[in-house]
Amino acid sequence: MPAANPVIEGMDRAELLGFVSRAAIAAVRRAAATSPLYRSIYARAGLRPERLATLDDVRAHVPTVTKLDLLEFQQTLPGGGTTPTDASVRQLHLTSGTSGVGREVYPRGSHDVAGLGTPGAYEYLWAGLVPGDRLMLTIPYSQTMAGPYFQETCAAAGLVPVNAFAGNTADRLRDLARFGCAGISGTPSYVHRLTLEARQAGLSLPSLKAIFLSGEPYGAAWAHDTAEFWQAKVCEGWGATQTLGVAMCTCERGTVSVDGDGTPWHAILHGLDHRCWIEVLDPDGRPVQPGETGEIVVTMLRPSAQPTIRFRMADKVRLLEPGSCPCGRALSCYAAGSIGRVDDMMKIRGMNVWPDAVDAVLLRSPVVDYRGRVYSDERGREAVDVMVALEAGTPAESAAALRGTLRHALKSAVGISVEVSVVDVRQMPEEQFKSRRWRDDRAVRTAGVS
Ligand SMILES: [Zn+2]
Repeated sequence: MPAANPVIEGMDRAELLGFVSRAAIAAVRRAAATSPLYRSIYARAGLRPERLATLDDVRAHVPTVTKLDLLEFQQTLPGGGTTPTDASVRQLHLTSGTSGVGREVYPRGSHDVAGLGTPGAYEYLWAGLVPGDRLMLTIPYSQTMAGPYFQETCAAAGLVPVNAFAGNTADRLRDLARFGCAGISGTPSYVHRLTLEARQAGLSLPSLKAIFLSGEPYGAAWAHDTAEFWQAKVCEGWGATQTLGVAMCTCERGTVSVDGDGTPWHAILHGLDHRCWIEVLDPDGRPVQPGETGEIVVTMLRPSAQPTIRFRMADKVRLLEPGSCPCGRALSCYAAGSIGRVDDMMKIRGMNVWPDAVDAVLLRSPVVDYRGRVYSDERGREAVDVMVALEAGTPAESAAALRGTLRHALKSAVGISVEVSVVDVRQMPEEQFKSRRWRDDRAVRTAGVS
C-alpha cells in the first residue's frame, strides 16, 4: 500500500479525531484573532472561542459561513478585495464563479504557496505514480487557483507536468503518447471526449497508469468503461479554492469497484482529515448519517492568509462510515462520483432530479455528450427534452433504437419521461471545464406567462 504520509495514515480513528479536534479549535481561535471577516462574524454571533473544548462545541457554537458572506465582506475592502496592500500576500486566486453570484478573492501568503501542491501528492502517490512520471494537465491556467495548484501538485509528488491546456484533443492525444504520460488530469466530460477520440484513432497508451478526475460527478459504469479502455486506474479528487486544493481523494483502489456479477459501483474518497475538517450537513445544519447525502462544510486546519472556517461549499456528497474502505485507512469516507452542486438539483413534476443521475445513464458509448432542457409545453406542463450526440459512424438504425432504450433507462433511473433526440456532434460545443448541460426554460423561470 503506497503511503504518502505514514504518520497520518497509520493513525487509528480516535487519534485522528483527537488531532482534528485540537486543530479545528486552534483554527477557529486563529481566525477570530487574525481575520477581519471572521472577527466580525464571531462578534455578531457572540462567540467566545476560548470556551471551545470539543468538536461538538465547534458544531454547536461556531457559525457557518457562505460564499455570500465572503463576497459581501470583500465589497468593503479596497478594489472589492482584489488589491490587498499587505506585503505578505504572494498570490491572488479568484474562484471560478460557477454559481454566477460573483467571484471571491483569496489572497495567499508564503505559507499557503509553499504548501499549495501537497494535497495533490496524496492523490498521485496513492494512485501508484512515482517521481519522474509525467502527468498531462488539461485544466486551464488562469487567475483561478487551478493553474498554479496543478503545477505545484506535480512538484510536490516529483512528477513532470505536461501542460496541455492550450492544445486541442488531437494535440493532447499526440502528446500523451509522445511524452509517455503516466497520468492525465481532467474533468469527466473532457476525459469522455478524449476517450472517444482515442478509440476512433485506435490509440492505446501502455504508459498510462491513472486518470485523475475532478470538477463534476460521473457514473460508476462510465468510470468502469473508461478504466477498461485505457487499461488504467480511474481516480478522483475533490477540492476547491477554499480548501487550497484537494481535500478528498481516492486511494490505490481508484474510483470504481466491480461486484461479483460484474456491476460497477462507486468506490471511496478519503478525506485528508489532518488538513481539512469535513462536515456533511443536512439543510437544517445537522450532521447526516453514513449513507446519506448532504452539503460539504469545510474547515481548513493549516494557518492561512485567508482562513476557511465552517465554510458551506454548496457541493453535496454521500457520507460513508469512516474507515470503511478495504485499504484500512482510518480517514473519513465519501462516495466517489457523487459530488455535485447542491443547487443543481431540479424539481421536475415534483421529482428531485440530479443532473448526475442523468449523466450516469447517458454518458456511455456511443453517446459523446448531451444537452437537457426543461420547459413548459403548450399546455403549461413541465416537459423535458434531451439531445444526445453520438460517436461518428454510429449506424442510423442503432441511433433509432437507442432513443427508445435511453428514454426507458431515464424513466427508470430518474423517474421522469424524457423526449430523446439525436443530433450531430458538431452541433454541440466542446466542454472542458465544469460543463453546464441543462437549461431551464420553464415559464416560471423565464419570461413568465407568454
Ligand atoms: Zn482506501
